[in-house]
Amino acid sequence: MLSLSSLQPSTTSRSSLPSNSLPNPYRRFSLSPPPHRLPLNPLTSSTSHRRLRIHSLDAAQPFDYESQISDRIAKSTKLKIGIIGFGNFGQFLAKTIVRQGHTVLAHSRSDYSDIASKLGVSFFSDADDLCEEHPEVILVCTSIISTENVLRSLPLQRLKRSTLFVDVLSVKEFPRSLFMQILPVDFDILCTHPMFGPESGKDGWTGLPFVYDRVRVGDEESRVSRCDRFLEIFAKEGCRMVEMLCAEHDRHAAGSQFITHTMGRILEKLRLDATPINTKGYETLLNLVENTASDSFDLYYGLFMYNKNAMEQLERLDLAFESLKKELFGHLHEVLRKQLFGKAEGLDFSGERPVLSKLPHNGAALPPPSETLKSETN
Ligand code: NAP
Repeated sequence: MLSLSSLQPSTTSRSSLPSNSLPNPYRRFSLSPPPHRLPLNPLTSSTSHRRLRIHSLDAAQPFDYESQISDRIAKSTKLKIGIIGFGNFGQFLAKTIVRQGHTVLAHSRSDYSDIASKLGVSFFSDADDLCEEHPEVILVCTSIISTENVLRSLPLQRLKRSTLFVDVLSVKEFPRSLFMQILPVDFDILCTHPMFGPESGKDGWTGLPFVYDRVRVGDEESRVSRCDRFLEIFAKEGCRMVEMLCAEHDRHAAGSQFITHTMGRILEKLRLDATPINTKGYETLLNLVENTASDSFDLYYGLFMYNKNAMEQLERLDLAFESLKKELFGHLHEVLRKQLFGKAEGLDFSGERPVLSKLPHNGAALPPPSETLKSETN
């Protein structure tokens, strides 16, 4: 197996860049930007140069020459993208990628040929066949926990020597080191996390965060441009493009996304129902359950297992709950004191007793509140 140190990026890694070289938003929309280390001025970008060049040809060329060139440039911005893992999220992304005119191929463990043909995607049951189509980009959309096996079983030797590998896993340090370990050094690596899914992104992606880290992108113009053209797919949809190191992503995501999913799954176990008097806050909770419960348990488990910051967040959540109970029971103590000393003053508190239900075994949901009350009164 190749050692990690032998696979250090031969080209620019974002982590080595000075902070003032972080991307200029304009560059994400350019057709063929210069190497990403140079901050660009929109007025002097390669795009505007191109436009100038096209206009200067007008005088000597037939009328539709400019539109022919524009067509050619438009076609050259289209990518051939092979999606590996064509489940819930792979299909969700494919819809938009196809709509933007890119060619999409897909391979998955299950047979999705019918769904694929409806979406305008070519489905390959055999990964060898997909790789022999030489996609410029391989987009890994497998579950976090299956990614290593899937990646190790891909016939990488059938791909073009320079292929851009992109992942969309909801954790980032794990796929980054996996890609660095397994992929040949000629392959480019872009780690991304679209921070939305089929539920939260069903009405469009405008304003939704898209996190990315150019882990290893070769210096050649064609490789930089290929990576930018891929990012452009999300920028064009209005995503908020956030360039961030994988480690930083995982720190933030454990404190936000993992907590969100955990709370959603805890609430799901309570089997919350809509009531005739829902408050706005309660509606938010019902939405949270709906948003998180539709994701697979594999996804949630991956957030926990493959983000080293998740365990600490789970412990903090436990502590927070304990401390809240302590606070409540501290007040309860006051009630009990009144009960004890109140009797002496002729007051009766005997009906006021807290109801504590027994916790169910094997991670099952709590019984509905009515059943709890029934068993308490029997
Ligand atoms: P998921 O349960 O995390 O992954 C399902 C995908 O993994 C399917 O394509 C499935 O293939 C494949 N898979 C699972 N086990 C496999 C195995 N043993 N061997 C080969 N393939 C296997 O659900 P998902 O929502 O589609 O997410 C896919 C990826 O996108 C995940 O890494 C997730 O973190 C990321 N992501 C998801 C969302 C979201 O909102 N859902 C948002 C951002 C990022 P088959 O269907 O062919 O079995």
